[in-house]
Amino acid sequence: MTSGIEFFQSNSGARIYRIPLELFPILSGYAHMVFIEDIVALIDVGSGFGDSNDQIEAGMDELRTKYGERANWGDINYVLITHGHVDHFGGLRYVRERTQAEIGIHELDLPVLANYEERLKVVENRLRVFLVEAGVENGKREGIMTLYMLNKHLYSSSPPDFTFGSRGMRVGPFLIIHVPGHCPGHVVIRLDDVLFSGDHILKDTSPHQAPESLSLYTGLGHYLESLRNVSQLVDGIHLTLGGHEDPIYDLGGRIQEIEALHLERLEKILVQLNEPLTTSQISQALFPDVEGYHELLAIEETGAHVEYLSQRGYIRINNLDELDFESPAPIRYIRSEGVDRLKAVFNHKQPEPITAPEGVKITKEPHISTHRQ
Ligand SMILES: [Zn+2]
Ligand SMILES: [Zn+2]
Repeated sequence: MTSGIEFFQSNSGARIYRIPLELFPILSGYAHMVFIEDIVALIDVGSGFGDSNDQIEAGMDELRTKYGERANWGDINYVLITHGHVDHFGGLRYVRERTQAEIGIHELDLPVLANYEERLKVVENRLRVFLVEAGVENGKREGIMTLYMLNKHLYSSSPPDFTFGSRGMRVGPFLIIHVPGHCPGHVVIRLDDVLFSGDHILKDTSPHQAPESLSLYTGLGHYLESLRNVSQLVDGIHLTLGGHEDPIYDLGGRIQEIEALHLERLEKILVQLNEPLTTSQISQALFPDVEGYHELLAIEETGAHVEYLSQRGYIRINNLDELDFESPAPIRYIRSEGVDRLKAVFNHKQPEPITAPEGVKITKEPHISTHRQ
């Protein structure tokens, strides 16, 4: 029986295998195994949940028997983790017991691995505050918190061996690019004309966003900046392999789609906010039919967009007099301006060049010199 392993090659001949994994009951994805000259690397290690570890084993077995690869735990030089979410690093404990390979992650996601219990506690508390301020009512809030904590206690700290920054963002043949947003320390990994995009860019789903108030260096603003950074690479990338879903062959097109989706969502929120609303009310209008864990995802996604608009002054708090900030209370937002500025930002519109008043001679590029003063 075939396990559905897919094979790809980079333009310098690196051999890349996608090992399909069932990460959680409703989530499937991939670990990638790469062979280039004498280097063997494993990119992400699955969730460690259910059959995920066994599926990696079965995948490696097939690489040995069917493809003749050196796919043994002892042959792996590097285990590279794209970001600190359990569906990507949860298998680390299992992997570590079997290989001497060096395990690397970005330093901003290091605490998730090295100090998992602390991260969990801190984010749990911030999430609780966020849900109160978002206006999620009491009973529902506890339900959401229970769902959030589900499975989380199955994991414990398992520190990596190195951070990407300590290696100058280069590991063997791999170029590591920091793309914060979906996670503080999310990276994409470039090998020749192939990009391993983790959850930063996926083929069909727009990667989940949560407010930065829950975890610094996440948030929609960072995410969109990271998307722009990756869009500078698109000419040299012919294949993008995400941690979930199908391969992407038109990276530039996919980035544009994701940007457009976020702009549309931001516009919808601005339109709604001609009357004061909480994040929870906005979320119910944007994602009316969600239930269970998806309700948490929806309110986080909405919260990330509301935060983006609030950080940049498109919206403001309408019930400031009801808030004392010592005990969190629902926050109602109202629009402070229309969508024109938002659209201009998304259209990459450059500021008009500054023209010199008569008699003044500008010698440097004006908008750069004024920017730096
Ligand atoms: Zn993720
Ligand atoms: Zn994921």
